[in-house]
Formats: sequence, C-alpha cells, structure tokens
Amino acid sequence: MLWSLIKILFFVALVAALTVGANLLMETGPGVRLAIGTVEFNLGPLQAVIAALVLLAAVWAVFKIAGLLVAFLRFLNGDETAISRYFNRNRERKGYQALSEALLALSAGEGRQAMSKAAKAEKYLQKPEVTALVTAQACEMVGDRKRAEAAYKTLLKNDKTRFVGIRGILGQKLEDGDTATALALAQKAFALRPRNEGMQDTLLKLQAEKHDWKGARQTLGAKLKHGGMPRDLHRRRDAVLAVSQAKEVLSEGNSIEAREAAIEAARLSPDLVPAAVMAARAYIEQDKPRYAARVVKKAWEAQPHPELATAYAEIQPNEAPKERLKRFEQLLRLKPDHPETKMLRAELLIAAEDFPAARRAMGDLASEDPTTRTLAIMAAIERGEGGDEAVVRGWLARAVTAPRGPQWVCDKCQAIASEWGPTCSNCGAFDTLDWRRPTVSENTSSPTGAEMLPLIVGAPARSAAPEAGDADVVDLAGAKPAEDGTEESRGDEPKEPEAARA
Ligand SMILES: [Zn+2]
Repeated sequence: MLWSLIKILFFVALVAALTVGANLLMETGPGVRLAIGTVEFNLGPLQAVIAALVLLAAVWAVFKIAGLLVAFLRFLNGDETAISRYFNRNRERKGYQALSEALLALSAGEGRQAMSKAAKAEKYLQKPEVTALVTAQACEMVGDRKRAEAAYKTLLKNDKTRFVGIRGILGQKLEDGDTATALALAQKAFALRPRNEGMQDTLLKLQAEKHDWKGARQTLGAKLKHGGMPRDLHRRRDAVLAVSQAKEVLSEGNSIEAREAAIEAARLSPDLVPAAVMAARAYIEQDKPRYAARVVKKAWEAQPHPELATAYAEIQPNEAPKERLKRFEQLLRLKPDHPETKMLRAELLIAAEDFPAARRAMGDLASEDPTTRTLAIMAAIERGEGGDEAVVRGWLARAVTAPRGPQWVCDKCQAIASEWGPTCSNCGAFDTLDWRRPTVSENTSSPTGAEMLPLIVGAPARSAAPEAGDADVVDLAGAKPAEDGTEESRGDEPKEPEAARA
C-alpha cells in the first residue's frame, strides 16, 4: 500500500521534473551545437533531448550486444548453454522465485505445494542438485517414497550433493529394515564425510548390529579423532566393542586371539564386568591365577557382580568349601557392606555348612531388601539349620513373587536382558545395559507367580504367603518348631495337606 503510494509520487515528481527541464531547454535559445570532427550539428532544444535519449538507448544496446558477444564466445569455447543462459536470465529469476516458494511451502508442511513449486523451479533453473533436494523432502513429507528415492538418486550424480543423496536413501533403507544395504551406504557416506557425527553414530549402530566389531572400533576411533566423543567414553565403548569382538572370536574357536582381545578390553575399562570376567578366564587358561584374581578384584571394587564371583571361583575349581571361603576373603573385604558381598559370603558359608554364620552374614538383608536371591538364601539357611519345612516353604513362597534384584537393564528402553551384550536386544541402542534394579516394578507384572503359589508350597501356605510382611518373615525365620503353642500350630499347618495328598 505504502509502496504503491511512493511509486505514484515518484512518477508525478518525474513528470514534473521533465516538464521543468524541457521548459528550461526551450528558454536557453539556439540549443546545442555538436562538433564531430569537421561536421557540425546544430540541435534545437527538443532535438537535443531526443538525441540524449537516443544516445542512452545506444549505450544500453551496446552493453546488451557485448553481453551476447561474450556468451557467443563462451559458446565457441565449448560452453553449450552459454547463449541459452544469456537469454534465460529472466527464466532464472522466475526459477529462484519458484524455489523460494517451494522452500517456504516445505517449512510450512505443505508437501504437495512444495513438490509442484520445486518442479517449476527445476523447469526454469535446470539445477537438479538444488531442486531435487527440495523435491525429495517434499515427497517424503507426502509419503511418495518412489519419487523421493528418484530425487535422492539425482543428488548422487553431483559431487557436492552425493552425501545428502546417500543419506536420504540410507534413511529409506533403515525404515525398510534393509540393514545390509544401509550398512554399505553408511560406509560410503562415512568415507565421504568422516566428520559427520550423525553418520558416525548410524554407522556404529549398524556395525554393532551386524557384529562388525573391528569396523565399529575403527568408526569409534574416527569419532574420537574428530572430536565427537570424550576420551573416557571412548575407552569405555572401545572396551565394550573389544569384549564383543573377543566373544565372537571365541565362538569361532580362536581362543588365543579372543584372550588377547578380552585382556585388552579389561585393561581399557577395568570396571566393565563382562570384560573382567572374560579376561579372568583368559588368564586362568594361560595359567596366570594371580592376574585373574587381580582383574576380578579390580572390577569388584567398582561394581560387585555375581558373574565376577563365579569367575573368581573358577581360579581354583576344585578347592574345598572352607578353603574357598578363605580365598574369597580377599574379594569380600573390598566392599564389606555391599549386598552382593553379604549374599556371596552367605552362599560360601552355606556351602561350608556354617549356617549360623551365614545367617549372621545376611543380617537383615532379606527383610530390608527381599529379592528372589536373598529369600532363597534364607530358605537354604533355614533348611541347613534343620528348620521346619513350613518355614523353608514360607521363604520359598515369598521368593517366587519377590523382585529379582539387579539385572542388566537398558538405560534407554528399560528392557531387561538375561545376558550382557554390547547392544540392547530390544531397542538396539549401543552400550546402554547397566547392572541395576529395573525401574518398572516387576511385582505388578507377574500375577502368574502368585497363582503358581499353591502348586509350589501347598494349599495352607496360600493363606500365609499373601500376609507375609517383613515382620512375619522375621517371625518365621526365628520360628523353631514345637517351642510354643502358637509356633507349633503354624508349623503343623502344611503337614495336614501333605498327609492328605499322600
Ligand atoms: Zn533398549
């Protein structure tokens, strides 16, 4: 609105100025005298103005002709489109107009509009490397995958846009679940731009999925080199890959290489439990028990874990329970108050048949933290001490429905893995498995456990089990049969149905 007003005002001013100028010329008398060489021209005022205008037009024409001449010379030089381009300046303007409209439509989420504008821009501009990108994104937006793929393939033809083209097709292949092709594409894209962080991560994930541990370690190295990863995280992830590599090599039967990889993994990340376990076994095979013990102890200090205890036991597979208990003392004293230490000590004492000591080792762990394992240990202690069958069953009944305690849990999707692995089997994320308690309550999701109870412990325990709070457990644990009337009756309960069943 304002702009049109300004234009009108400018036009009025121009006309006024011209009139004033013409009047001035008229009044200056004889006009302009031009001398070119020996020829003289005497121009009247109006003629002078016309001559000036003709001169202007001539200069403009000379510039135009010069431009055309340059284009013609370029054409002779081999640039075939030079002349057409010269005539196509106007088309170019229209083309960029259409392109900017296409981009705007794309940002506005109007896929179809963007597609038609991009096609128009392509008609005028003939620059597929620019318009194909917009077309591809617009096609993806409206779900036209075939045309999107064709557009990405156009991008592959140009050196500058090849990476973007590969990335686009890679995204489509990943969506289709064609990971083999996706991996090949990711490798190509990574070779083109090793610094691209998104591509590094995609490639790493695909390599881990395909168990290409060696390649994944190289990618990880590139990530570190290009500053995409802190050094300590790199060490940790490299160790994860190294231990995965070791597992793979071991399953292929090459134990020497596997040992070296495992030992390297444990050296890179001493607190990585699976690495420490594998390295300990590698040292045991090499007949280096001291090294094995050292690796296990180092990992135990960072995080006590039952698999570490298993590996520590394997150092002396045939020792007597009492000797084993003595040897384990070195491990147990590292983290004396950790629940894992308490349970391990209790288990070793149970094996050595020192049940009262095992009960002391457990302390009130089973009532503070009732898990399948703590309750099963209590049941074993009870049985070992010659406790009543009903009490043992009471512990076992609770163990069935108790949470399982720490497990390998994915930090990303919270899925529980039965065995450690470099990637989550549920969501495919890399290095997300952590040894901890699941955040989702297991009790709510296992109603079958409660339904199985009568089968396991016999009918009367069904009444005892649901009300078995922590106070009850202490009660049950301390229960000695036939000590007083109340306990006696409790103890007698399960015997009736047993007799009935028999
Ligand atoms: Zn996961």
